[in-house]
Amino acid sequence: MQLITDSSPTLIDRPQTFEEMSAREGFQAPIDHTEHVLKAVLSEYHFQRQALCGLKACRTPHNHGFLVITESGIETNIGQYCGRTHFGEEIFHTLQADHQRLRERADLTKRARDLQASAPSIEARINAFMNTNKFGAMWLTKVRAELYALIGSSLESLEVAQQRGELTVKEYRQRTEEEIENLMAANKGLTRAMARDATAVVGTLEPMPWIMFDCRGRLITGLLRPLLAFAVQDPNQIASPKLKDVLKSFDGHARTLDEADAAAASALRFLSEENLRLLALWLPPHLKAKADLLRDWIGSEKHANLLNGAI
Ligand SMILES: [Zn+2]
Repeated sequence: MQLITDSSPTLIDRPQTFEEMSAREGFQAPIDHTEHVLKAVLSEYHFQRQALCGLKACRTPHNHGFLVITESGIETNIGQYCGRTHFGEEIFHTLQADHQRLRERADLTKRARDLQASAPSIEARINAFMNTNKFGAMWLTKVRAELYALIGSSLESLEVAQQRGELTVKEYRQRTEEEIENLMAANKGLTRAMARDATAVVGTLEPMPWIMFDCRGRLITGLLRPLLAFAVQDPNQIASPKLKDVLKSFDGHARTLDEADAAAASALRFLSEENLRLLALWLPPHLKAKADLLRDWIGSEKHANLLNGAI
């Protein structure tokens, strides 16, 4: 396996302006292409202002092109198609492909080093969320435990409701005799049992990303461990396809961290008095005792402590 190092002599940072490019020591324009042999493409460029092609025979203004170097060490700029036209299709294609390979490799290595450099700050943020943040992973565990103590396995039903996006809360009541008679008179075939139950939408529960968020799985197993393992590796020793895959696996790391914060924020909203009163109504009628327990808990010291981030 051939590994390419960062310090390739034929790759330079992309020039941003013609002035920057033409200030390079070896730069000359115009040059007579018949007197030169092309050695390498140093960089592609994309300028906002057009720059005249560096070939005497062309001098067309271009926005996009290549900075090239000749065998004699002279650098000049050529438009996108001039390389093929003036130096030959095959040679230019090869040099351009060589350059592209180097550029891609250099970009990959840079991304890898940038990610490695950000590992300490990501680690600090994850450790803070897991261990010390007021509204972090430990607090979320406490929230779950408190709610479980109040509503028991209905917590699992809440998970299902969150997954399905069914957060509407309906209140059940029995219709009065008079209402039942009227309803049955108006709807032929309606049984008494069917006519008896009435429901009315009374609100919508706060969305619960927190209920599904696996702090340890997402942040430690899924992100921090692989990141710390990658941080001590030398990107130069990893072949491009593998390096590309590894970098891809970290693509969503910023989103994962944001999701953790969003989960905690959603739990805090879930604990609002208004939402907990809706939760009491959301519980099925046969769990009236749990609903009463929950209503009594609202405003209690335990509830206040959770709202303050105490664990
Ligand atoms: Zn040209």
